[in-house]
Amino acid sequence: MIRRGHILALLAVPALLGCAQSAGMAGERLVRVSDGATPMGTYLMITVYAPDEDSGRQAIAAAFARVEEVEAATSHFREASDLSKLNRAAGGPPIPISRHLWTVLRRAAEVSDETGGAFDVTVGPLVALWKKTWKKGKAPSQAETAAARALVDYRAVRVAKDAPQAQLLKAGMQLDLGGIGKGYAAEQAIAALRERGIAAALVAVAGDIYALGAPPERQWWLVGIRDPARPDKILPTPLGLRDQAVSTSGDYEQFGIADGKRYSHILDPRTGLPVEHMTSVTVVAPDATTADAYATGLSVLGPEQAIAFAEKRPGIAAMVIFQRDGQAHTLRSKGFERLEVSPSGKR
Ligand code: ADP
Ligand code: MG
Repeated sequence: MIRRGHILALLAVPALLGCAQSAGMAGERLVRVSDGATPMGTYLMITVYAPDEDSGRQAIAAAFARVEEVEAATSHFREASDLSKLNRAAGGPPIPISRHLWTVLRRAAEVSDETGGAFDVTVGPLVALWKKTWKKGKAPSQAETAAARALVDYRAVRVAKDAPQAQLLKAGMQLDLGGIGKGYAAEQAIAALRERGIAAALVAVAGDIYALGAPPERQWWLVGIRDPARPDKILPTPLGLRDQAVSTSGDYEQFGIADGKRYSHILDPRTGLPVEHMTSVTVVAPDATTADAYATGLSVLGPEQAIAFAEKRPGIAAMVIFQRDGQAHTLRSKGFERLEVSPSGKR
């Protein structure tokens, strides 16, 4: 598995506008405060506008702590996490889980329904199989793929409606929240900032970003999207976002190599194979959990279906960059075009 370093990835994130100090809505001066951390095996960048430096730092510290809470509940890399406990209990009776895990699993189930199973957090056994593949550099056999795929089925996750409890119906099932967890972490970081009275902030958990309010005297936050063809550059038209999330799933940040071929880390639950030809999918949504899960799910659906999916849903916009006939193509939903900010600063 290849993951880009943090420094390069940071270039992807926000092209931020706004001055270090400006007037707030009530005429008070707001200070811009930023800080970063490295949770979830990735990077987290937070920028806030606060009445003073101290309260800004405290708000960011609270958001970092909230993300740590989310990671402790939802990480499959941590043996003691709620998620790992649930995975170990696969095939057994329902077990109590934390509110964080409960919330993520309920949302994941909805997105699986909406995408006809293209998004499916039960991909764990397939993820494990392909990880082994990337280590060995050789693709798995059909029998191995079929055995892993037999354990992938979002309908075999039972999430209680009235209490935080869940059950995995088949022994061997493994949940992997890699496609939704960072978006949920961004959403929770924003909740922690709001609780401390912050009204303008940008939170980026790698490619999962939420823009709260706007910098003083601005209409929106400007967020650049990395150019998948040249990952150290951003695309010429950034997005102007306000109380909106954006997520990009792509095979340029994480991918595997087997038999000399480059594979996406997003797997198609229907075939058990890595998604092909999709270079990047960017989704704008009202919240970060939805943007993250949709970006992963739409990567599986393919370009035309992904755009049709976005067009059907109010508040959802998508851009897909893909390879066909040896060429790169880009499709944007109408809503996406409306969010793009031209060099003259107009949307
Ligand atoms: P990134 O982790 O690079 O931000 P994504 O949000 O698209 O990208 O998540 C990809 C991760 O989601 C994979 O590494 C894997 O853990 C998980 N995953 C892979 N395929 C699927 C799928 N079809 N549905 C849900 N999760 C998936
Ligand atoms: Mg995702």
